[in-house]
Amino acid sequence: MSNDLTLDAARARDAADPLARWRSEFHFPVSPRGGPALYLCGNSLGLQPLRAGSEVAKFMAEWQHLGVLGYHDAGADWLKLHEQLAPTLAALAGASVPEVVAMNSLTLNLHLLMASFYRPTRERHVILIEHGAFPSDRYAVVSQIQWHGLDPATSLVQIAPRAGEQLLRHEDLLAEIERIGPRLALVLMPGIQYLTGQLLDLGVLVKAGHSVGARVGFDLAHAMGNVPLSLHDWGADFAVWCSYKYLNGGPGATAGAFVHEKHFDADLPRLAGWWGNDLTNRFEFGTEFRPYVGAAGWQVSNTPLLGMVPLKSSLELFAAAGFPALCARSRELTAWLERLLDQQMGDRIEILTPRDPAARGAQLSIRLRDTRGNGRALFDAMLARGLICDWREPDVIRLAPAPLYNSYEDCWRAVELVRDILNAATP
Ligand SMILES: *Cc1c(COP(=O)(O)O)cnc(C)c1O
Repeated sequence: MSNDLTLDAARARDAADPLARWRSEFHFPVSPRGGPALYLCGNSLGLQPLRAGSEVAKFMAEWQHLGVLGYHDAGADWLKLHEQLAPTLAALAGASVPEVVAMNSLTLNLHLLMASFYRPTRERHVILIEHGAFPSDRYAVVSQIQWHGLDPATSLVQIAPRAGEQLLRHEDLLAEIERIGPRLALVLMPGIQYLTGQLLDLGVLVKAGHSVGARVGFDLAHAMGNVPLSLHDWGADFAVWCSYKYLNGGPGATAGAFVHEKHFDADLPRLAGWWGNDLTNRFEFGTEFRPYVGAAGWQVSNTPLLGMVPLKSSLELFAAAGFPALCARSRELTAWLERLLDQQMGDRIEILTPRDPAARGAQLSIRLRDTRGNGRALFDAMLARGLICDWREPDVIRLAPAPLYNSYEDCWRAVELVRDILNAATP
């Protein structure tokens, strides 16, 4: 065995890694076999930061002691909690602070931003998505098209990988954008494709969409907090994300949105509510809606603060660890897991995710090569032995070593466990 793929080598890497210490800032679930579980599921639900519990307790105490005064109390400062999150979110998104906001949930934000950015006309009404789009995104897009009185049969175009391939090719995406041309209203693509883990070249897509006069928006559910982003410099029109995956904000945590600065003065139509009204006169209860300048102007309702407090704890960890350093660690960690998988069971397991580290994040999607194999049984055995990862129909297991809390040793143990299960199952 190549001697940098051993347990000792994994431990040596962890010991030498200055970022390994952030692991101790997180709670790990308990394995059915006792002890902490192996957790490679940050792509689905990030782990709970230790400090989130005490921050939530602190918030509850503020509510207890201050009541409604918590909104304006200098210490609690509830009215501006979203502003405390914005600098780190902006750094992760590659945006300026006013271009981002923590609000609502992902799909809701998608609807709100499509209300502003999908303005179909007789000529220009098509939305381009990928055939493998996450169901919620698909439902949102189809329902927007129908809500405008249009027919998805003519206003929705879906692009799929070529026959026999798993990944989208940029040349095909660009050709499709070119082909739809003057009919194309909106390109809506994922940052990272949830099933395969493919990271798209978002800058290239923005350029292509804009060159035919379309708007370009991104769903960054699997990209935010996972890979470096430059939404501002790319010129993306808008983006949305959830905060419970790599951002560790907790189940259903307050999500986020990006609106490019170039749209701040554009007086875009929007679906408004009082929480989007600028703080300077929100509480005058006037008849005129004067939105915040920036993404915060898309807020609608009084924010559920309990959905933001754990996110704040997690974002503090991102800020303290430094996102570029985390991304560099992530590439190394994932590449190491990849090599180990190839070496230990490359004959039995296929990796769907791009091999190029620049074309993926922390996630590796795998499946059994033998199509008669029972991937679901493998996955169930993994769970039963305390390896938490996730299963996506029809046959994909996703493993995601999150750089804030996963170790090389986690990767080594996960691969050993999978190999043991496969060996035991093979007659
Ligand atoms: C996780 C995920 C969602 C979830 O949407 P919610 O509104 O948070 O329920 C949507 N789209 C994609 C691509 C996702 O990965």
